[in-house]
Amino acid sequence: MDPGALKFEFVPSLRRRGKNLIVEGFRFKKNLSKPKAIHFICVEQNCRSRLIMDFDQTKITTYSNNQTHDPDFEYLAEHESRHSIFEMIDKNPTQKIKSLYMIAVENATTNAIFLPPPFSKIRTSLIRRRNRQLPPIPHSFRDVDIVSPWSDTFDCQSFLLDKNNERGIVIFISLRALSYLSKSSVIFCDGTFKTAPRPYEQIYTVFAVIDEKWKVPVCWSLMNGKTEDHYKYLLQTLSSKSETLVGVKFELSSLRL
Ligand SMILES: [Zn+2]
Repeated sequence: MDPGALKFEFVPSLRRRGKNLIVEGFRFKKNLSKPKAIHFICVEQNCRSRLIMDFDQTKITTYSNNQTHDPDFEYLAEHESRHSIFEMIDKNPTQKIKSLYMIAVENATTNAIFLPPPFSKIRTSLIRRRNRQLPPIPHSFRDVDIVSPWSDTFDCQSFLLDKNNERGIVIFISLRALSYLSKSSVIFCDGTFKTAPRPYEQIYTVFAVIDEKWKVPVCWSLMNGKTEDHYKYLLQTLSSKSETLVGVKFELSSLRL
């Protein structure tokens, strides 16, 4: 067969950086770059198949087909299913990666094609892929800008309640959670510093009590400090917004900080 007529494609290598060349279901990796040609060898150890492409990698010029093993169709199917999840992540970077993974599983089941690898095995690479789509992290809280869809919940409801870059505080709460908070006779608050995302110092969580027994987190605030002013600003904002948005006012008179 004329090697120039062979179909080929490059796919990202799953286990290391770089790309693999796929020809007739076999995977090749780059071995040598010469001034006028690129040499490839089969990725299987002990297999002596070789091929040469022109320097621009537009066609195969020589193919020594000495395959000692079967084509790696399973690997390619795994690659394809992972790639389909990557494409979904690129289109919907704000969606949960587990939900997108489940869509790929359902799709594979419906079409009787290879299932993607187990979620635990590819979770890290999916997160890494999504992180590529995330906006850059601001150096200072004064530069923080949170726009849709990053200001919304996964089901596209408003989540960002207030952002005050002068004070260095951002408050996230959904409208439904705000109504829970307004009806709660007791609220609990707790701060954590370890997991606060840069450039903030603290994640402060407000819990409401529902049906007088369930303590649930309803509001998350990012703060650049832990002064009384920060806490007062948060609770006053929640109080005024709950009155405006859900028509219920809660009293801060008994608040002890
Ligand atoms: Zn081979």
